[in-house]
Amino acid sequence: MTHRAYNFNAGPAALPIEVLQQAQEQFVEFGGSGMSIMEMSHRGAIYEGVHNETQALMRELFAIPGNYQILFLQGGASTQFAMIPLNLLSAGKTGAYVMTGSWAKKALQEAKLVGETAVAASSESVAYNRIPDLSEISVPDNAAYLHITSNETIEGTQFAAYPDTGSVPLIGDLSSDIMCRTVDVNQFGIIYAGAQKNLGPSGVTIVIAREDLVAESPKSVPTMLRYDTHAKSNSLYNTPPSFSIYMVNLVLKWIASKGGVAALEQYNRDKTKLIYNAIDESGGFYRGFADPASRSLMNITFRLQSEELEKQFAKESEQHGFVGLKGHRSVGGLRASTYNAVPLESCKALADFMQEFQRKNG
Ligand SMILES: *Cc1c(COP(=O)(O)O)cnc(C)c1O
Repeated sequence: MTHRAYNFNAGPAALPIEVLQQAQEQFVEFGGSGMSIMEMSHRGAIYEGVHNETQALMRELFAIPGNYQILFLQGGASTQFAMIPLNLLSAGKTGAYVMTGSWAKKALQEAKLVGETAVAASSESVAYNRIPDLSEISVPDNAAYLHITSNETIEGTQFAAYPDTGSVPLIGDLSSDIMCRTVDVNQFGIIYAGAQKNLGPSGVTIVIAREDLVAESPKSVPTMLRYDTHAKSNSLYNTPPSFSIYMVNLVLKWIASKGGVAALEQYNRDKTKLIYNAIDESGGFYRGFADPASRSLMNITFRLQSEELEKQFAKESEQHGFVGLKGHRSVGGLRASTYNAVPLESCKALADFMQEFQRKNG
């Protein structure tokens, strides 16, 4: 048996073992073609079959309506931070941002390079330990869009519900929580997500966009940064990251085999409950960073009484086979990323380890 770590990496992150094994089987020769999927033309029938099937699977599993396009782009979610304003933020309009933490800040920073921006709500005053209340969000009259970060990967907070923005398009960065739970895609103008947390390896960024928002980009935008370039060519304007898209295809089939997104959501709730309970029942030994109402299903952030003890926790956890529990360098503490492919068994093992560590050090 292959040794598998208890992988709580924040991204790139755990992939289902079944997916890795299937990719291994098909690695050298894909579907009787005499070559790997990596070695064939992206304009051939075999690759295009995988490409189109991946879109169809995503549409079905995430209930994406017919008037939305599914794009496969490169440059990570970080490139979307720029593409959103380049394509949607015209003169006289304002790009509105809900400031929830580290990734929201990066998104806003890029928009500032392009045009007028506004902060629609912020939890900076409480160190981003919660998502602002939906009632705190104020969208300017001339807003081109409202941008939110659905899940703040570093702080460990997540929108429990999304704001109703009326006719203003809601843009969602779902990089770290796409398909962790069911979502009404109709609430959004555009959803984007780097694949490497919940959907596959790095290298492909999924953009789910309402057709009218990507039909025509401003003339001044360079070809590769235009949504209309990719929308008009089914994401085949240039060479797509074909192997990453193939891996997303396998992950989507794995999600289907688990009963779909709703079943996965319940599984994720069961998983995170084990770890949040270990925090809540520790009598203050572990301190959850996020306000309970804003807790994330994907990234669990917590602290101990001292940095010394946190270091010891990180070190001992590694000795016990846990990987990736050290918090992001910008906020410190500890973080367990419990993405879709992280099995319940890993979360159970972590909860047990936390209790044992407390018994020895509490
Ligand atoms: C990881 C992450 C990003 C950055 O993704 P890249 O693909 O590395 O550019 C952006 N937003 C969120 C919420 C993330 O978790």
